[in-house]
Amino acid sequence: MCFINKLIKGVLLRGREPLVTCDSCGRKIPRNKAVVYEKVIAISTDDARTPGAVKFFEKKKVYYCVSCAKHRGIFEKKKEAAIKAKRF
Ligand SMILES: [Zn+2]
Repeated sequence: MCFINKLIKGVLLRGREPLVTCDSCGRKIPRNKAVVYEKVIAISTDDARTPGAVKFFEKKKVYYCVSCAKHRGIFEKKKEAAIKAKRF
């Protein structure tokens, strides 16, 4: 086993996870407790229905605290995505 890896896992990071900010309420939560969700952001130069409009999609990693995730239905969305990924 790698000594440095053991050192990092065992000594340096013990009991201290880096804090992330909840995207909804702004609460500071440890990263292992946060719910990670990939939000899709669509940017368009024009109205999306007009032909010739340049569309751009981007995935942004968003952190939520558990109560916000439950309120926003993130767990249901994640479950649906997992079922979809299993099917195909
Ligand atoms: Zn929150």
